[in-house]
Amino acid sequence: MPQEVLTEAADEMLDWHGSGMSVMEMSHRGKEFGAIYQQAHADLRELLAVPGNFKILFMQGGGLAENAIVPLNLSRAGVVDFVVSGSWSQKSANEASRYCSVNTAANNASDGHTTLPEPATWRLSRGASYVHVCTNETINGVECHELPDLKALGCDAPLVIDFSSHVASRPVDWSRVGLAFGGAQKNLGPAGLTLVVVREDLLGQALPICPSAFNYQTVADNQSMYNTPPTYAIYMAGLVFQWLKRQGGIAAMEARSKAKAALLYDAIDRSQLYLNKVAGNCRSRMNVPFFLRDESLNEAFLAGARAHGLLQLKGHKSVGGMRASIYNAMPMEGVQALVDYLREFEQKRA
Ligand SMILES: *Cc1c(COP(=O)(O)O)cnc(C)c1O
Repeated sequence: MPQEVLTEAADEMLDWHGSGMSVMEMSHRGKEFGAIYQQAHADLRELLAVPGNFKILFMQGGGLAENAIVPLNLSRAGVVDFVVSGSWSQKSANEASRYCSVNTAANNASDGHTTLPEPATWRLSRGASYVHVCTNETINGVECHELPDLKALGCDAPLVIDFSSHVASRPVDWSRVGLAFGGAQKNLGPAGLTLVVVREDLLGQALPICPSAFNYQTVADNQSMYNTPPTYAIYMAGLVFQWLKRQGGIAAMEARSKAKAALLYDAIDRSQLYLNKVAGNCRSRMNVPFFLRDESLNEAFLAGARAHGLLQLKGHKSVGGMRASIYNAMPMEGVQALVDYLREFEQKRA
């Protein structure tokens, strides 16, 4: 979370804009929350340049719930294609297989999830309901820098993207997307809010077993208020959207992300001690996993980092090593502090 946003929320915690209420105490149907919701919705549409024929839904359940909710809404044809590029897309494919037949169109497991299979090599099935791609593999640090053009591959199915961990760090080419989903907690706000952006022609196709509260048509028809939405998380995300606009919007965040990532990868690549294994053309600008070539130094590295105020650097347990997540709210100075520490730690051991 940007510090500025946390301070703003703290100031408004007990009394929002003289309403005499905390946002947490408002009715989601009252005019105060209505204003918060409308502003957040409009700001997000503007920031991500979401075209008029897409609905923006504010849901709950996180990315993992969407792994079920997407097939429950979109898998009417019975077959879906998955590009497995890391832990998250594998998880999504496993969950979808409970509701429909999953075809793995590509899989980079034999490369240890360090590459991105070229779209031209994907084995897409004829008549699939959709093609799922996780456009930023948070755990493996693999990012799809250009969305695939399915039409150019002769595929009419809509593209579904899981953009949980890089949403708002770069523009989205909506002409290539049918549905995008993401948990808010990486780049948009606190946990509890799930963003879904869906093309209107994909609504109204849910399987009969789809829960009503998770039916995209129902959610869209009720402006995301079929049931009580995560009001406080929407409010916080709204403050983040305002902050993003003050920073210069998504183009500015993209430029900043490129600069932050370049600084960190460069420091890793130049060193004798650290190693990033991801192929150059798909290195994530948000999640940078790296290893110490001498893994016996891991604990000392982490302890020293903590002493420098550099937290949460331990890699995901399935991958090991280290991981620096440098989401939008991480300033350049934070990345510079990490780079300085990397150098200092290495020099001490040289
Ligand atoms: C964090 C994350 C999710 C979110 O899952 P939750 O259910 O919200 O915990 C989904 N997909 C990706 C790629 C993620 O990074």
